[in-house]
Order: sequence, then C-alpha cells, then structure tokens
Amino acid sequence: MRIDVLTTFPEMFAAQPPAALAVSIPGRASAAGLIELVATDIRAFSDNKHKKTDDRPFGGGPGMVMMCQPLWDAVHAAEAQDPRPATRILLTPQGVPLTQALVESLAARPRLLLIAGHYEGIDERVIERLAPLEISIGDYVLSGGELAAMVLIDAVTRLQPGALGDELSNQADSFSPDEAAGRRLLDCPHYTRPRDWMGAQVPDILLSGDHGKVAQWRLAQRLARTAERRPDLLA
Ligand code: SAM
Repeated sequence: MRIDVLTTFPEMFAAQPPAALAVSIPGRASAAGLIELVATDIRAFSDNKHKKTDDRPFGGGPGMVMMCQPLWDAVHAAEAQDPRPATRILLTPQGVPLTQALVESLAARPRLLLIAGHYEGIDERVIERLAPLEISIGDYVLSGGELAAMVLIDAVTRLQPGALGDELSNQADSFSPDEAAGRRLLDCPHYTRPRDWMGAQVPDILLSGDHGKVAQWRLAQRLARTAERRPDLLA
C-alpha cells in the first residue's frame, strides 16, 4: 500500500519512516515493504516567489489560511507519481471520527493521500474541489494534521496482511469485530509472569490449560468491560 502525506512541514517525515513509525509493528511493516510512505512538500508547489502557502483570512480575524493553489498543484503532482487511484483524505477536527471500522475500510485500499492542514485551516474552495474524505482523530484541536496523519497510518499499517507477527492477534483487539459476540467489543484484561505480584494473583482460569474455558472467560470479560466502559458499543 502507498500512503502519500502532503504537508507544509516535510521535516516531520524526513526520516524514512519517521521515528514514530519506525519501531514496533509499523517499523516492521515498513521494513517488509508492506507500506510505502511518500511525503510531499506543499511549499515546493507554490507559484509565489516567496513560496508562500498561506495568507490572511478574508473577513479579518486571527491566524492564517492555507491557500488553494499550492495544495491543488501538490495533490495533482503526487497523484501523477503512481497509477494506483488514491483515496484523498483531509485530516480535520471537523471530519468523521476515525473508528476501527473506517480504519478497516481504508486499510483495504491501494493508496491513501493524506492532507495535513495548519494554522486556521485550508481555503474552503480547494477542499470543495478536491472533495476529500474528511477525517478527525478526536474531539480536540491539534496544531497540525501531521500527527493525526501518523495516527491514521499506524492504525492502517497494523491491518496490512503480514504486519502482525501472529495473524490472529488483532482479532481480539478493542473495536475489532468479534464473531462470537456479533459486535465490536473492548479487549479483555491481560496478565503475564509472575503469577503473584505484590500479592495480586493471576485469575486461576488462565493457568488451567483449558483453552475452551479460557476463551469463554475472555469473552465474558470483554462483554463485561464493554458494558461497563462503553455501553454505546452494545446498543
Ligand atoms: N480552525 C480549525 C477548526 O477549528 O476546525 C482547526 C485548525 S487546526 C489548528 C490545524 C490543522 O490541524 C487542521 O487543519 C487539521 O489538519 C489538523 N487537526 C487539528 N485537530 C485535528 C483533529 N482532531 N483531527 C484531525 N486533524 C486535526
């Protein structure tokens, strides 16, 4: 899968892959060639002699607004680099929430093109013409879309076939579809050695060696946890 990131701060993606995506599962997936990450500097496409990418807002007010032309040209130049059709995505707090179901849908596409905004945001006219899928990573405001892009890239990368050591290990992750329950649940609690830690014991069932009973216990834990913490998932 190819993922393009369009940014006015390409230094955040200068390392290949960037530090936040160079370790653990995303790092292994990049090393295995499952994800090809390409950063494009929007500023390089500005036709302004000072390579400006933003200007003051019409109507007054604070801050700067990213201009149409550099972004429009950067998107088309990036798309022309590869024949695979790109799903255009704008990271914005005003977008649809990034859920695991949306991540699953994005992970199955051949190419994503992520646009990171800054300042007050982006001139609405170029958003209308590019018609990207607008995605938010949560109800809070970041300074720029680059960290949001990295969050999305991490979530999509771990679903690439072969990215996880154990192919089954994402199936019990929180928000993944649970076949037995027929819905998306939170994960169950996990334990490892030692069996006794400061007087706190590992549940006996996990030491029983009875895989059927362990599976039943885990499902019951997942259901109880979801009911307690995220009843909306069971509604
Ligand atoms: N004025 C904008 C608003 O209130 O909707 C916020 C602009 S924010 C300071 C700058 C950029 O950060 C946005 O254009 C977007 O790319 C990114 N951003 C901020 N919060 C985000 C979020 N929750 N999810 C995704 N991207 C976000």
